[in-house]
Amino acid sequence: MDYDLVVVGGGPAGSSVAYEAAKKGIKVAVLEKEDSIAETVRTSGVTWIKDIMEFGIPRDCYNPVKNYSFCSPNNQVTISDTEPKAAVLDVRKTYRWLASQAEKQGAEIFVKTIINDVIRNDRGDIIGVCGTDQQGKVEYHAKVIVDASGFASTVSKTMNFVTQWKRFGAGAEYEARVEKSDTDTWWLMVGQKYSPAGYAWIFPVSENIVRIGVGIGKPDSAVDPTERLKELIRIKAGPIKNLGKITPIEFHYGLIPNDGLSRKTVFNNLILVGDSAGQANPLVLEGIRYAIKFGRIAGKVASDAIKKGNTDREALSPYENRWKKEIQSKINSAGKVQDRWINLSDLEWDKELEIIKELKPEEFLDFIKADFGLTNVIKLATHHPKLAVRQLFNLVKSSKN
Ligand SMILES: Cc1cc2nc3c(=O)[nH]c(=O)nc-3n(C[C@H](O)[C@H](O)[C@H](O)COP(=O)(O)OP(=O)(O)OC[C@H]3O[C@@H](n4cnc5c(N)ncnc54)[C@H](O)[C@@H]3O)c2cc1C
Repeated sequence: MDYDLVVVGGGPAGSSVAYEAAKKGIKVAVLEKEDSIAETVRTSGVTWIKDIMEFGIPRDCYNPVKNYSFCSPNNQVTISDTEPKAAVLDVRKTYRWLASQAEKQGAEIFVKTIINDVIRNDRGDIIGVCGTDQQGKVEYHAKVIVDASGFASTVSKTMNFVTQWKRFGAGAEYEARVEKSDTDTWWLMVGQKYSPAGYAWIFPVSENIVRIGVGIGKPDSAVDPTERLKELIRIKAGPIKNLGKITPIEFHYGLIPNDGLSRKTVFNNLILVGDSAGQANPLVLEGIRYAIKFGRIAGKVASDAIKKGNTDREALSPYENRWKKEIQSKINSAGKVQDRWINLSDLEWDKELEIIKELKPEEFLDFIKADFGLTNVIKLATHHPKLAVRQLFNLVKSSKN
């Protein structure tokens, strides 16, 4: 099978690469190991309405959220906005919409296709991938290969360009029907009881449907997120008790890299994008908007390189320069806040919520999104009357300078 561009993985990153490249007239194949796109959901699907609008994701793919509640063992805060800025995605619908957009532009999507090896030329550069589909062995040759296989990073690992992520988040979640829910409000729950290194959540999906989950940083804590989730639901911890009867509909489990932006993401004829590139905001471990945004940039850069007949590392490097310029310093700053948060005791979390209470909705959102510098987050470090608030924001400020 000969293509200009082969994308391994039909998640948000892979579909977005394929969409942009196919739009530019490039012959694209997307190879997905599962029986259908988004057959297994591995994410909670929170993202931001501004990004959703930019990507053109349809309105029936998400539930808007405008109240952001936090609770620690002995404290609680709700930041209420006048209009929704966050959203909980219908993950399956959104990921399938992204794939359908790529198909409409002419990309071919092959499901049930498991890639487990690479094809190299005599210089050792990648020129294709191979694996199995329902008929047996398959080989796909291409000028550029994109590793969009997520956490697994199958292609880059087989090329020996990367090793397994050392620091990562493990998350378990139930999508559940509940007796009572507020579709406008999400809950983040922090402290030892909820997660020894991370947080628990309740995200509203639609009327009486929520996602209740637990994320735990590895190797920081040995606690199993699935066990902790079951326990929190059993004891109806914190705001979980307000949901009334909980009837699980579907279980989700996933891993997300948290090693910072440690990987090189372009090699001769190869691009890494999305989770395989480690493009995730470490504060709340969200990566969907980066996967889509940088997927589209990767698709454009790869297409330009293919058209010019040079797909070496240098020719593909504008992709890496673009995404680094956009998020590198923000992710580094977010990493510092994460280091602070991961070590907080329950008592310190109770106090941290007092700091969060001081924030206006737009400041809180920019902070949690790691969009430091957009509002007056940096000014808070110097001018806020409370020392504790200044100290928190100084972390962000010092890593920017
Ligand atoms: C518990 C949890 C909760 C999260 N919550 C959020 C959230 O609320 N908001 C947010 O923005 N982000 C969240 N994330 C992160 C988000 O899910 C990822 O950043 C995002 O999915 C990355 O997209 P991707 O396309 O790079 O990878 P993926 O979505 O993982 O897609 C990779 C695709 O490649 C396929 N694949 C893998 N190996 C092969 C192979 N060998 N051959 C063929 N196909 C293969 C997979 O089946 C999959 O379809 C969460 C992650 C976890 C684990």
